[in-house]
Amino acid sequence: MKTAILGGGLSGLTIARLLAARNEDVMVLEAGERIGGLCQSFQKDGFTFDTGGSHIIFSRYQEVLLFMHEVLGCNRNECQRNTKIFYKGLFIKYPFENGLFALPKEDLFFCINEFVKAHVSSEKGEFKPPVNFKEWIYQTFGKGIAECYMVPYNEKIWNYKTDLMSAHWMEGRVPRPPVEDVIRSAIGIETEGYTHQSVFSYPLEGGIESLIHAISEPVTDRVTTGFRVTSVTQNGGKWVISDGTRNIVADRCISTIPLQYLIPMLNDVPETVRKAVDDLKYNSLISVSIGIKGQVPPVSWMYIPDEKTGMENRISFPSNFSPGTVPEGCSSVLAEITFNEGDAVSTMGDQDVIDHVTRSLTLMGIISPGSVILTGLFRHRFAYVVYDLNYLKNIEIVREYCNSIGISLVGRFSRFEYLNMDGCIRNAMDFVRGC
Ligand SMILES: Cc1cc2nc3c(=O)[nH]c(=O)nc-3n(C[C@H](O)[C@H](O)[C@H](O)COP(=O)(O)OP(=O)(O)OC[C@H]3O[C@@H](n4cnc5c(N)ncnc54)[C@H](O)[C@@H]3O)c2cc1C
Repeated sequence: MKTAILGGGLSGLTIARLLAARNEDVMVLEAGERIGGLCQSFQKDGFTFDTGGSHIIFSRYQEVLLFMHEVLGCNRNECQRNTKIFYKGLFIKYPFENGLFALPKEDLFFCINEFVKAHVSSEKGEFKPPVNFKEWIYQTFGKGIAECYMVPYNEKIWNYKTDLMSAHWMEGRVPRPPVEDVIRSAIGIETEGYTHQSVFSYPLEGGIESLIHAISEPVTDRVTTGFRVTSVTQNGGKWVISDGTRNIVADRCISTIPLQYLIPMLNDVPETVRKAVDDLKYNSLISVSIGIKGQVPPVSWMYIPDEKTGMENRISFPSNFSPGTVPEGCSSVLAEITFNEGDAVSTMGDQDVIDHVTRSLTLMGIISPGSVILTGLFRHRFAYVVYDLNYLKNIEIVREYCNSIGISLVGRFSRFEYLNMDGCIRNAMDFVRGC
């Protein structure tokens, strides 16, 4: 059986590796000249930056974590998370509810008092199931943490109003913080949240793209780059996949490319399915890389909820992930900005965005302008799936249709789910096991 995989990002390459290990005939068709999708890295003048925003390696799934560690072998640096939230000029420990002690006193009272009130209401069973993400935030963290951090940060990263987002995806992803931990943190006793991520890894050399090369190493001869799939049709029980000039014939077709690309490539798609895909929401990413002469704070990454501080929702410090990402005596910052076509950010030129980020990092006291020796900027159209209130209805229509015609969907924008790298690998492993 011959299998064609659309897309040579992490998901497509992982499936190819796993199927090839079973001696299956498999090929990967990738539109770009390089594999890796969101997990690409760029190197210049001794600096290495991930182009799709900062990527760290962590997982709750032991099998997946082991897989990533094993393929990387010695090319892996283990780091202890030291993450902050930039709040009113202060570096607050992340997660916010574990860093309350460092807040200005009035804000600390607001956060802990409202957290306790929400906790009591929850224990008394006074809450109805939340109808949207904003309600979920208020019920889980209380009005204080919601208004100081959770709502502004989430509305910045999703570029979407939290009351227009669904709450279904929070279950299991962000647990209700234990009340004892939040009280401890409020009175200044150290506590840790989000512990599955408190130790993470990063490649010593080559950025996150080296994970891609390590995974694809046994199947490099099965990958065709520069093959932008434009049509996928069925003929005599076979799939015919074309880029407009070349045709590939396969028995099985697995898509890891965005649904917004896949569905228009298919023939005779019902209007309801086309409309459901058009209604799915996502946002896009600009990542700005900055090489510095000198040092940056010993922080892993930092969330920036406040719009006034800058457009960036998060900055990370790749030089703190691995010394191999910078030349001697240098350090680095990577800023992430989410946007949607047609909004104010989308119309800004590259240099204007870079200038904005360097200005805001300077005002935050992270860098001094004279220390910047390299800048770069990358745009990715598909960055985050946004779970709007119609998401569950729309995604079901699309999945049912793809299932009915026999196209398998695997990966972040093909499943159209908020999957991190480990989720994509888990998805690929489960798919291969099931077929
Ligand atoms: C800002 C940001 C930070 C992140 N940080 C982390 C992190 O710290 N840790 C973590 O685990 N995960 C992180 N992720 C998630 C991670 O990037 C994704 O889970 C993963 O890269 C998705 O891989 P994929 O193969 O499913 O999709 P993609 O990487 O999008 O790959 C899809 C591929 O399909 C190709 N393609 C598209 N159209 C066509 C076509 N017509 N024909 C052929 N090929 C086509 C594309 O070129 C691309 O190579 C982050 C994501 C973002 C946006």
